[in-house]
Parts: sequence; C-alpha cells; structure tokens
Amino acid sequence: MVALDSILAAEVNSLREKDLLWNIKQLQGPSVPRSKVDGKDVVMLCSNNYLGLSDHPALKEAAIEAVKKYGAGSGSVRAIAGTMDLHIRLEEVIAKFKKTEDCIYYQSGFTANSGAIPQLGVEGDLLISDELNHGSIIDGVRLTKAGRAIFKHKNMDDLKRVLEENKGKAKKTWVITDGVFSMDGDIAPLGEISKLAQEYGAYVYVDDAHGDGVLGDHGRGITDHFHLHGKIEADMGTFSKGFGVAGGYIAGSKTLKEFLLNKSRTYLLTGSHPPATVAACIAAIELLEKDDTLVKKVWENTKYFKGELKEKGFNTGESETPITPIMLGESAVAKKFSQELFAEGVFALPIVFPMVAQGKARIRTMMTAAHTKEDLDFALGKIEKVGQKLGVVK
Ligand SMILES: *Cc1c(COP(=O)(O)O)cnc(C)c1O
Repeated sequence: MVALDSILAAEVNSLREKDLLWNIKQLQGPSVPRSKVDGKDVVMLCSNNYLGLSDHPALKEAAIEAVKKYGAGSGSVRAIAGTMDLHIRLEEVIAKFKKTEDCIYYQSGFTANSGAIPQLGVEGDLLISDELNHGSIIDGVRLTKAGRAIFKHKNMDDLKRVLEENKGKAKKTWVITDGVFSMDGDIAPLGEISKLAQEYGAYVYVDDAHGDGVLGDHGRGITDHFHLHGKIEADMGTFSKGFGVAGGYIAGSKTLKEFLLNKSRTYLLTGSHPPATVAACIAAIELLEKDDTLVKKVWENTKYFKGELKEKGFNTGESETPITPIMLGESAVAKKFSQELFAEGVFALPIVFPMVAQGKARIRTMMTAAHTKEDLDFALGKIEKVGQKLGVVK
C-alpha cells in the first residue's frame, strides 16, 4: 500500500514548485488597523472588516452578555433544538435591515450558497452565472443537476444571449451574481440584470458579501444601492465581512425562507451558531440601523486612499469599492511587492494566477472605517517606497 502521506506530499510539492502554497500568517490579537501578525506590528490592509466592527465594543459586549445568559453553545442543529430566540431575533433584524419579508440565517455565506443554490435550481432548471462568481456559488451550482450557463463578466449583451438561447427551455431560470466582485472591487450592474431577468421570466440571486455594510443607505447592501427592493428573489450575504462576525443569510419572501429551511442540508444538518455569535450579529445590524457614521467613514477612507495611489502613479484597475487592487502584472512582482511591504510593516496579500488571469497579478488592499489618516499615510508611504524599488512607479 502506498502511504497516504506520500500521495498528499506529491500534490503539495507540485503546488510548492509552482509557488502556489499558502503561507498562512498568524494574527496575534484582534483584527484592527494596527495588528500584530507573525510577531510584527503591521498596518492591516487585507481584512474584510470594512467597518471595523469585529473589534467594536457594542458587539463584544453583546457577545459577552449572550454567553452569560445563554451559554457557550446552542446544543443542537437549528431544526431540532438549536433555534434560540436569539436566532429568530437576528433573522427579523436582518429582514428589516434588508427590507425583505423574511430571512434565513446559515452558518456561513459559504454554506448559504452551497446549501440554497442546489435546492433553488434542480433538474429541469437553469442556473446562469457571471464567470467571476465566488467559489461558494460555483460549488452550489456543482451540487445540482440543473442546467448551467455562464455569461461574460458583467456583460449584459452576453447575459441576454444566454437568456435568449435558453428561452422557454427551463422550468425555473436563475441569474446568479456576486454583488461586489472580490478580486477587482467592481459592482455588478444589478439593475440591468434584474431588468433582463424580468424580461425573460428569470429570478435573481445576488451574493452581497462585499456590499453588506458598504453599499446602500446605512450599508444595507447592493439591492438598496440600486433601489431594487422587492425585485431580487434571493438576497444573500454574510456576517463575516462588513458586519464583523460570522454567519450567512438569505433574505427574501417568507415562502423562500420556509422552502430553504426545509430543504437546505447546510441548514438542517449542522449545529447552529453559538449565542455569542448571534448576539454580536444582532448588535452589528442594530448599530448600523441607528448610525451610518462607519459606512461614511469607510468610503471617505477609500476615496482618500485610492486618490493618493493614483496620484503616485499606481493603477487601481476596475475598483469602485473599498476593495482596491494595485495592478502589477506578473505574479512574481506581486509576490515580491507583498513581501517587501510586509518587511516595511504593511500587510497586503498578493493575488496571482490562477486566482486571477495571467498578467493580472496584483496586491489587493482593503480599506476599513477604522483606519486613521495616519495609518493610511504610513501605508501609502511604504507602498510608494516599494513601488519605486521594484520599478512599478517613478
Ligand atoms: C467571503 C464570501 C463568501 C463566503 O462567506 P462566509 O460567510 O465567509 O462563508 C461568499 N461569497 C462571497 C462573494 C464572498 O466573498
């Protein structure tokens, strides 16, 4: 018998040869703009903590209180005995925030997509995806016998072509798209998608992972940003990014919720989130309902940071959101750039092939509301220094 480890090691080695192994860094404390990472004090530019909520006193306090009142765990899966009043309250709070009839809360955004999509699209249906959709959508689509089609990234002519070619062929047709695309920080044309979908009798499923807390009034997300309330059948999102905690959700009609909670295996067969997590999620939404200061701040920081990068001669690609890539071209340059920055005390990850196309390597920076101007100026100074050293800018 061949030892399992030797088979696995061969695979790992092949990744190593291509320089594709993850080198996972350790955060030694909270995720804040000045974080300690692998023993080094750095300015954090690669967290998705857009509003700085993961270390917010109101969320921490809510979590602590929930532990005292409800304990450390929930005791069961949601469907059996793991639905506490907290879980229900959270679903109500999300539905109100997203202006939908109801909402279902999952363990994560990943399990929302991988659990809901294979139930919403079954044999005889058609799932149409933007080519750059997130991996959790791709996995959800792979778990079903529904027909599949892809349209070119944000290309409405191509979406129309796919809808036209499949006209009348499927029982249900879904158009599935990320709201904000995580590699480039560009925004899906959801209004046009919704219009086309209506024209062809298709439903829309949007993944708002990077729009939650960022886009729309008080950070209500992409549906609010485009004033599409009532027109998006499945409004999916996550608490692990802008909302600063963990968990996924799908907001929509009461019937959608009832359908999903009876059908999604990732809802039915996994222990529910512990009280601390749920209470912190509620606190995040309640805070945003009351006050949009942090949403305004992340945009203010984004505008400043992006403006300064352009001023210094960097190319920030297609970005329209706090996700700000610095386009560098070759993978090797992006990797070197990230290493040099880390040595200078700035933490930003390289994004290289195959995560993005060949020649489109970049480092990806992400703004948060918690960064001070001083943090940003420090980071900008180091980015310029490394950029000059590597001949990216003059
Ligand atoms: C991060 C992300 C997810 C997964 O969300 P989690 O709650 O972290 O599992 C899903 N979709 C997109 C677009 C994401 O960026």
